[in-house]
Amino acid sequence: MGRYRVLVAALASLSLALGAAGSAQARVGLPPVVAQVPTSEKVVFITVDDGWNHDPEAARILLERRVPVSLFLLPGAASYDAAYFTRLTEEGRAGVENHTVGHPDLTTLDAAGKDAEVCGAGEQLRAVFGRTPKLLRPPYGAVDDEVRLAAKACGVKALITWTHDFTTWGDTPPPTPRLQAGDIVLLHFTPTLAADLRRALDAARAAGLKPAALMPHLKAAGVL
Ligand SMILES: [Zn+2]
Repeated sequence: MGRYRVLVAALASLSLALGAAGSAQARVGLPPVVAQVPTSEKVVFITVDDGWNHDPEAARILLERRVPVSLFLLPGAASYDAAYFTRLTEEGRAGVENHTVGHPDLTTLDAAGKDAEVCGAGEQLRAVFGRTPKLLRPPYGAVDDEVRLAAKACGVKALITWTHDFTTWGDTPPPTPRLQAGDIVLLHFTPTLAADLRRALDAARAAGLKPAALMPHLKAAGVL
């Protein structure tokens, strides 16, 4: 019971924070930056970035377990072997989203540079996957209001950062956190993706959470 109340309080403060942010965003009309989705449903969100390493084992897990997943792809990483990703979108439950063209820190670019990176990636991904991405993951999570403004001009509805990075960047995996409802899990298309993905799915199951698609839950939460 105590834990339940803590959770309810956490959700309430989260939705308050989001409500306040929401009205500020409404004033300036900028798309929101989302690191965790306010939801009372027992869901987590799996996201995989970049796209350089095309591991068949990771694809097999995503397809066999029917994992809803958002792929924030660099067009260059997708273009040399687009079939790896179109299989995930057509046979699996993957959606392709925007991660810029060249992976810069967008806050360091002028308006034309931001436009080329975000709109350019959207156009290139549309040419391959037939859909203009609606979500942007800013490289390094680097965001300011000018980045949000540039993203809006490119049709981006929300900028998605993350709650926990499960990527094995060194020799050993990072400590596994206890996942909470609405958490956004960050993974990368690296050689450890299959193992990192298994850890994330195991952590979700241990917390009684199911992977879910981002877009419908962003809409349900009033974020979009
Ligand atoms: Zn990246």
